[in-house]
Amino acid sequence: MRSADELARMSGLSRLEARMLLAYTLGRPAAWLLAHGDEPVSPELADAFLSLAARRRQGEPMAYLVGEREFMGHAFVVTPAVLIPRPETELLVEAAMQSLTNVKSPSILDLGTGSGAIAISLALALPDARVTATDISADALAIAQSNAQRLGARIQWWQGSWYTALPAEGRFDLIVSNPPYVRSGDPHLAQGDLRFEPVSALTDGDDGLSALRQIVSGAATHLNPGGGIWMEHGFDQANPVRVMLTDAGYNHVRTMVDLAGLDRITGGTLSL
Ligand code: GLN
Repeated sequence: MRSADELARMSGLSRLEARMLLAYTLGRPAAWLLAHGDEPVSPELADAFLSLAARRRQGEPMAYLVGEREFMGHAFVVTPAVLIPRPETELLVEAAMQSLTNVKSPSILDLGTGSGAIAISLALALPDARVTATDISADALAIAQSNAQRLGARIQWWQGSWYTALPAEGRFDLIVSNPPYVRSGDPHLAQGDLRFEPVSALTDGDDGLSALRQIVSGAATHLNPGGGIWMEHGFDQANPVRVMLTDAGYNHVRTMVDLAGLDRITGGTLSL
């Protein structure tokens, strides 16, 4: 029998990734391996690990192989039906929370929720908030709902395209969204994790701005007076998004940069 350390070396993966997949296969915390790497691994588990390693070498995202990804300190189940939550999207959650500090029992709408990472993180951080989330994909909503249940978040779910998912009445204090914003034909779609993620969560199949445009154009009729909006976008889309919001009459239109220093989210507020 081979030891965990030997299997890690054979895997052709970086030590970090090998350790993550080994820990997952063995059902142990990654730190356990530091002290037990020399112990033999049963042939069945060794095979299971080596086949995961082979899939990883073919490019399958780590998050799909182990079935989860951490976001805002919570473990979210992810499958290829949903986009893998990104660290930069935590900025959107933080900006959303910041914008609601003076609002009692805020109502929040997350459009295109995917795994539910944004909506659920907000619901858990703001226990008095009423959070509504939509997605056009029934498979994504099923993942989001199971995440909410496991993490103990109460969310109102609606299936459909952007605002058409919602019942006629109801307005919100804040709209947030991480919509598909990669332009069609962008070479990034054929690289790295993106190759395995749902195309409809990544690209609008157009110039990258069409979902953002739809979200901005419908926002005013779904916001309370003084309500706000925050959207994630591509590093080169801050200007067009700011123009959309300014043209639609929003105030305090501003962009925030992510940890890489790239323009990543833009928001604004409706006048009272
Ligand atoms: N941030 C993702 C990426 O480019 C895109 C996600 C999205 O389109 N919302 O990796």
